[in-house]
Amino acid sequence: MLPIPINLDTINKLYGLDLTSEELERFFASRRETVDEIRTAEDVVVSTVGRELYEKFFRGYTRKQWGVDPSLLNKSVTARVPTRTDRDDRYFGDSFQKMPAGGYTRMFQRMLDNPNIKIMLQTDYRDIQASIPFRRMIYTGPVDEYFEWSLGRLPYRSLRFEHVTLDCEQFQPVAVVNYPQTEDYTRITEYKHLTGQQSLRTSLTYEYPTDVGDPYYPVPRAENEALYKRYEALASDVPDVWFVGRLATYRYYNMDQVVGQALATFARMQKSLPVAASIENEAAE
Ligand code: UDP
Repeated sequence: MLPIPINLDTINKLYGLDLTSEELERFFASRRETVDEIRTAEDVVVSTVGRELYEKFFRGYTRKQWGVDPSLLNKSVTARVPTRTDRDDRYFGDSFQKMPAGGYTRMFQRMLDNPNIKIMLQTDYRDIQASIPFRRMIYTGPVDEYFEWSLGRLPYRSLRFEHVTLDCEQFQPVAVVNYPQTEDYTRITEYKHLTGQQSLRTSLTYEYPTDVGDPYYPVPRAENEALYKRYEALASDVPDVWFVGRLATYRYYNMDQVVGQALATFARMQKSLPVAASIENEAAE
């Protein structure tokens, strides 16, 4: 069991070494491959840490997660995961890293607890679109579905989550363990490490990547990005429908990025059609 993202401890434990950060720089330098133009998810890793570490940590995991070889995926997929020569084992390098105070569930409950918001679950928006009047629509579903797949299907990757509760206090020593080489699942998350919950039992989730099921990830590949661009051109011609989020803008966004996109879109919406002004116009009519 080793830390990922790859850092000083990963290499020292894996090879039984006692390198310093400076020595690790030279270790990577002696192993990394020269890649003229870094284009793919494979290029990113082999040009940083070399092929052996790529094969141990990235190749199998990526094939499982995406159903294709890393050499066919855009560099952005593995560029998300940093390589470090110090002992920092966190995923992100941002100066400020926070969770919503009461967790994401509470955050969404509070947002939705507004008399102007009505939720209809298990409802296809096409079934109600004609009967619910709207001036503007914010669409967060798959962009190709909005256009009834008129240009063909954009692939999305999904996950099957298997939730398990065990009669033991702890299953694994950390919150997330990735399985880059064995098993059909990519990772197991044990929540109590994240929440600090004390309990005699423990809850886990296994993640099995799949093509079927709710779409969660766009698949970043040149051919998919080209098809998305054509849908994006159609989307920009639809008056007052705003496409937001991972599925509607076909981008592999993290939570902070998707919040940033939502706020930026809101600012653009207000500029294009000030709500107060349009309400006044309606009143005048
Ligand atoms: N990845 C990998 N091995 C790992 C962790 C990540 O090969 O142990 C690759 C894999 O292609 C994955 C991508 O890096 O899809 C991004 O990883 P991340 O953990 O950010 O994926 P997410 O949490 O978005 O599913």
